[in-house]
Amino acid sequence: TAEPPALTAMHLAQALERRQFVLHYQPMVDLDSGGVAGAEALLRWQHPTLGLLPPVRFLPLAESSGLIRDIGAWVLRDACRQMREWQALGWGTFRLAVNVSARQVGPDFDTWVKDVLADTGLAAEYLEIELTESAAFGDPAIYPALETLRRIGVRFAADDFGTGYSCLQHLKCCPITTLKIDQSFVAGLADDARDQTIVHTVIQLAHGLGMDVVAEGVETAASLELLRQAGCDVVQGFLFAQPMPAAKFVRFASRRRNAVMSANEPTIAC
Ligand code: C2E
Ligand code: MG
Ligand code: MG
Repeated sequence: TAEPPALTAMHLAQALERRQFVLHYQPMVDLDSGGVAGAEALLRWQHPTLGLLPPVRFLPLAESSGLIRDIGAWVLRDACRQMREWQALGWGTFRLAVNVSARQVGPDFDTWVKDVLADTGLAAEYLEIELTESAAFGDPAIYPALETLRRIGVRFAADDFGTGYSCLQHLKCCPITTLKIDQSFVAGLADDARDQTIVHTVIQLAHGLGMDVVAEGVETAASLELLRQAGCDVVQGFLFAQPMPAAKFVRFASRRRNAVMSANEPTIAC
């Protein structure tokens, strides 16, 4: 079989124009209630011949070519639009987490986000912007924009916390509301005493600073139990669900909502 054609920036630009990007949503589960606490929007490229491509296949090119700005603009707008649709279903408190590349964040970031919120009619407190620490929170020039958005209610999550260039200074200087513990600490949690210590300590740290904690990459009941014991607030991972198209997410969330409302004990596995 022939090698698939190399993807170029031109292909990416065309994909945007031809509306080949789609968002999948992965449920975030509240550990107290067992209910759906929110959804993380995750970008996919529905390629006409290569099929559904994950971000690892095209994000690096999007970043290096600068197209991430246009693609990211589409992501935020489409996710907020989707969230407004879900709000009409009356699900109650529920957050929308959107990944934003550091390359999209400049001093005018606040204006841009406020415009999207205004255009889509989404109230700011439902939006949680996920930034990887090293890339975004490390640049003091953007702090005023982050502060402005935080003041109107937008939440900020430090994604992949504990990997790369993690700096505790950022927790002090940036209006971070949520720490997302990277999946590398969660995957083998049950079998690794060091991961357990790290996870415990990060949760204590976050709570001490008034932040909440999301654990990513929860794949096993054993990890889940340890996270629960450590006081983690929200979990996300294949144990509950893979990222899925919006239509499927609606069914997942409605089912789970009913399950939670009818059960005395919080339900965990789906
Ligand atoms: P992330 O934000 O840390 O997202 C979590 C990734 O872990 C997702 O991969 C998700 O599908 C995967 N995941 C979730 N649960 C599990 C699990 O239990 N086990 C394992 N092994 N993996 C799990 P995905 O969708 O391939 O996204 C990869 C990365 O691409 C994201 O990492 C994020 O950094 C970036 N990304 C995704 N969508 C966007 C976007 O719209 N904009 C930007 N700028 N970056 C995005
Ligand atoms: Mg993320
Ligand atoms: Mg992450």
